[in-house]
Amino acid sequence: MVGYDVVVIGAGFAGLVAARELVKDGFDVVVLEGRDRVGGRSSTATLAGIPVDLGGTFVGPTQDAVIALAKELDCPTSPTYNQGSNLIRWRGKVRTYRGTIPRMSLFQLLDIGRIQWQFERLGRAIDITEPWAASSAKNLDGMTLDGWLHSVRAGSSSRDLLAIMARVTWGAEPDEVSMLHAVRYVKAAGGLDRMLDVVGGAQQDHFPGGTQQIANKMAAELGDRVHLRAVVSRIEWSDDAVAVASSGGVVEARRAILAIPPAHRLAIDIAPSPPMGYQQLAQRWPQGALSKAYAAYPRPFWRDQKLSGQALSDKGPVFITFDVSPSDDGPGILLGFVDSRGFDALPPEQRRKQAVASFAALFGPDAENPIEYLDHCWGAETFAPGGPTAAVPPGMWTQFGPLLRQPVGPLHWSGTETADEWTGFLDGAVRSGLRAASEVAATLRS
Ligand SMILES: Cc1cc2nc3c(=O)[nH]c(=O)nc-3n(C[C@H](O)[C@H](O)[C@H](O)COP(=O)(O)OP(=O)(O)OC[C@H]3O[C@@H](n4cnc5c(N)ncnc54)[C@H](O)[C@@H]3O)c2cc1C
Repeated sequence: MVGYDVVVIGAGFAGLVAARELVKDGFDVVVLEGRDRVGGRSSTATLAGIPVDLGGTFVGPTQDAVIALAKELDCPTSPTYNQGSNLIRWRGKVRTYRGTIPRMSLFQLLDIGRIQWQFERLGRAIDITEPWAASSAKNLDGMTLDGWLHSVRAGSSSRDLLAIMARVTWGAEPDEVSMLHAVRYVKAAGGLDRMLDVVGGAQQDHFPGGTQQIANKMAAELGDRVHLRAVVSRIEWSDDAVAVASSGGVVEARRAILAIPPAHRLAIDIAPSPPMGYQQLAQRWPQGALSKAYAAYPRPFWRDQKLSGQALSDKGPVFITFDVSPSDDGPGILLGFVDSRGFDALPPEQRRKQAVASFAALFGPDAENPIEYLDHCWGAETFAPGGPTAAVPPGMWTQFGPLLRQPVGPLHWSGTETADEWTGFLDGAVRSGLRAASEVAATLRS
């Protein structure tokens, strides 16, 4: 057994940031990561020789924490390709449009504008740090996003657009997510436009070298403090000590930071059990499921047709696309967000066939024969499955929200799900790591 000041469980952005800050403060830290790599939901692969992100990809304005970290670690961003028209495949037809909201009938546009206004107005009454305390909290947490859309008589196009938003944001359907969660989440991102836009929004920039390089660089700084393939299965704790058992052995420390999604806390046997409510929170804060597909072509041929590569589709499995090609001349790379339902269970060849058919339905026959293809199903991962983030069902924020990051003795909670700003995003993960590190440092100093 070895004695440390802090053991950090999970080497995603949150855990690595927390560990890095504590090391800077002079504490003795060890990081236990169950996978054979760092980065968690940030994972970069290669397609046609180009780095592509299977998980977290984009960053945008006001995501200051992750942008500052990337800058410090010398990981440059590049603007997301945004020239030309976007495509929409809606009710069986493919059309072009510009901006975030597709060209629809005036009636549909008015309805979408009304729904957006009403949705964001609900956020004004909610404090993102204590959403359960709002006078409207019980009512909003008592219904799903879908229930609210029906209650305000949203038109079918507005409902379908919000369903696409729910799929890409939480990896869940509108009837699975609490309205209080939806309103708080969007407010934590600075509003619907900020969350969904490319220019001025969360998809404005991406990292040509991928996002995992940021995690890799933090892990390189931490050196042999990071232990991979160390699946944590049990934590024993007392007032001022923890003993953490993993597949790599047992480590003792004065504090632990669990930098993992709430749902994954369930896989760890904690003794003595945390007070009432913590176990229920972990059981009822499920991860959504979102998949991604990439297709590479000799060139970004859609740019010749003045298309941005951005598309929206009411028919899956690919329902949103982006152009992440490195240049006009290099390989053309389409990123597709994929509806995991029905897709993840298919054999690889069938998944490829269906995803490529979706790309071709949007971008024409030139998209039918990619030179390379790659997909990733986060909901089907065997260890620590799910993502992009938690899809919190009704009733949970008002019952268990106050416990989400409330420490239990020497146990502290981190991870993007515990963040107040940009919850669910890379930026939220970084902010949660900074918060947990300062919380732990303060208790150790006192
Ligand atoms: C498909 C997809 C697309 C996304 N797109 C974007 C985007 O464009 N922009 C953006 O900002 N965000 C995006 N995200 C979200 C972003 O990736 C996450 O918010 C962020 O990576 C979460 O970091 P984290 O450190 O909080 O958690 P994680 O990255 O999940 O890290 C937790 C770590 O803990 C480990 N772990 C879990 N249990 C144990 C255990 N028992 N023992 C040891 N280790 C354990 C896991 O293996 C993991 O490495 C996307 C996510 C997905 C899946």
